[in-house]
Amino acid sequence: MGRMNETRQLYQLQEIDLETEEKRQRLREIEEQMAENVALTAAQENLAQEKELLAQRQKELRFAEWELDDLQAKMAQTEKRLYGGSVRSPRELTRLEEEVGHSKAQKRAREDNIIELMEDVERLQKAVDEHSSEVETLSREWQVLLEQLGTEAKELRKALANLEARRIEMAKPIPPAALQLYDILKEAKQGRAVARVERGMCQGCRITLPTMELQRARSSLVQCSSCDRILYVG
Ligand SMILES: [Zn+2]
Repeated sequence: MGRMNETRQLYQLQEIDLETEEKRQRLREIEEQMAENVALTAAQENLAQEKELLAQRQKELRFAEWELDDLQAKMAQTEKRLYGGSVRSPRELTRLEEEVGHSKAQKRAREDNIIELMEDVERLQKAVDEHSSEVETLSREWQVLLEQLGTEAKELRKALANLEARRIEMAKPIPPAALQLYDILKEAKQGRAVARVERGMCQGCRITLPTMELQRARSSLVQCSSCDRILYVG
């Protein structure tokens, strides 16, 4: 097996490694994307808060309505006593009149409060309805996306398993020293240990190679004198 063959093997190994890295990167992106839907989570949290506030206002409204009922019942009793004719004492009648007047003012205040609460409830109910359907839409879209991403991830994992198997086969005939050099350079050169030579130029650093270097690279494992990469004259 000649040297020429060796650099070619290293170049092909690099192509597998680059493809593997690209697919791993995409898989990481997909896994990150599948882990959280920021927009959906925010919409769900907002909706939950609105629902809580709505429930609180509905409770306040029910309570205010009970209070009003109580007050009206009490007023009816006071008025019955006031106009019923059974109370004769002028002092007591004045007191009852005052009580009715006071209750009427209280009643108006409670009615105003009820109207405000009803408006709040109506406004919140509208927001909850609107945002519920928004969350539903976002959830549906998210489910579709999750399914697509899940399919893509599955395909990527299959492709990565194939690449791994191919890499093992491809590395077998390469001498350990060459593999070691490749690994060191791969680390140092962001995955690109081997540079193709095109029109006498190293594609790793774009310098034109000296003729001697180029000739040696055709028949043996030579590193670029400028960027250190293994030269592959393809
Ligand atoms: Zn170079």
